[in-house]
Amino acid sequence: MRLVLVGPPGAGKGTQAQFLAEHYSIPHISTGDIFRANLKAGTPLGLEAQKFMDAGELVPDSVTNEMVKDRLTHADTANGFLLDGFPRNVAQAQVLSSVLDQSKTPLDAVLELQIDDSEIISRLDNRRSVESRADDAAEVIVHRLKVYHEQTAPIIGYYSTEGSLITISATGAVDEVTKRAITALGNK
Ligand code: ADP
Repeated sequence: MRLVLVGPPGAGKGTQAQFLAEHYSIPHISTGDIFRANLKAGTPLGLEAQKFMDAGELVPDSVTNEMVKDRLTHADTANGFLLDGFPRNVAQAQVLSSVLDQSKTPLDAVLELQIDDSEIISRLDNRRSVESRADDAAEVIVHRLKVYHEQTAPIIGYYSTEGSLITISATGAVDEVTKRAITALGNK
């Protein structure tokens, strides 16, 4: 199963990705997690990414694309993968398509987690009190949502034209959303 998860910040991508990756026995590749791990370890990549992440901006494609291309060469992706947080704009989607075209391993599905902005704001208000991520600050959230609508949402059109898009609602309990996802992906 080669799967991409798309949805706004706060849709629950990370949480659902963990369950789905386990269900399909595929690695969960989160670009946000990779950036955060690099930041924690103080690597040049982490330091480069930090200023963009803290501001709620996308890390430049030149950095992100190379990082993902490299990750997709690892042996654990041979039987599939779940990409969480990538692609995040149409240019990244095009890079991913061309990498997967070359290896003749197209995506099986792009799963969109759909949720209203008002629900996102209240969810992220809660996450801020639990996880204290710098990019969950209220004004940064508003900016991340703007970036999502302007830059990321267009990939939904891109994948719907390609025919791989599946959309589900991301509201309700975590396990309900997981069941919804597995049912929707059932015939993939
Ligand atoms: P969320 O899904 O809550 O928005 P992520 O953990 O996926 O959070 O991403 C956190 C931050 O990491 C983003 O706001 C962005 O700065 C950076 N980032 C993650 N993935 C990408 C990507 N594909 N392209 C550019 N920047 C990214």
